Amino acid sequence: MQADLERVLIPRDAIARRVRELAEEIAATYGTDAAGLVMVPVLSGSLIFVADLMRCLPFKMRIAVLTVSSYRGATTSGGEARLVADLNTDIAGRHVLIVDDILDTGRTLRVVRQRLAALKPASLRICVLLRKPGKAPSDVQADFAGFDIEDAFVVGYGLDYNDQYRNWPEIGVLRPELYQ
Ligand code: 5GP
Ligand code: MG
Repeated sequence: MQADLERVLIPRDAIARRVRELAEEIAATYGTDAAGLVMVPVLSGSLIFVADLMRCLPFKMRIAVLTVSSYRGATTSGGEARLVADLNTDIAGRHVLIVDDILDTGRTLRVVRQRLAALKPASLRICVLLRKPGKAPSDVQADFAGFDIEDAFVVGYGLDYNDQYRNWPEIGVLRPELYQ
């Protein structure tokens, strides 16, 4: 697996440190509203991130997963995002934090946010591990973002190429010859 990576973009210890900081930002932002928070990870990319993040949060919460598939080329963003599995938890009147791996063009999170907003949560915020600056439109902004990265195709720590590399513990840039 390592041989398929061109370079490491964010090493393991830097991810762990930033995830702890994000948890502190989240706890500080919600304050007393944290009790009863519902985290909504967007599967499958946020799998590893949300597992680490939620274990850094020192209050009771619920988790309700959502699955979105985006019809896109292998490594290019731009497909249409579609909900393939809906929430199994009632979020009406609850504080909700959407968690995703990466904010790129914002299409995925726009669809997710619209769907969840219709369920009338008390508040709706977005947390992403990665953000590619300058690409997301102004109507889709992350309230919490781990790292701003260059516009390269990255894998690892939950992010995939053809459903592989999610278990790689760092965030790295895939060798271009593997997908070009
Ligand atoms: P958006 O809908 O914001 O364009 O893209 C968000 C989704 O596209 C992410 O949830 C992720 O699945 C995928 N994506 C965007 N950029 C990358 C990338 O660099 N690497 C990987 N593995 N997936 C990406
Ligand atoms: Mg995703």
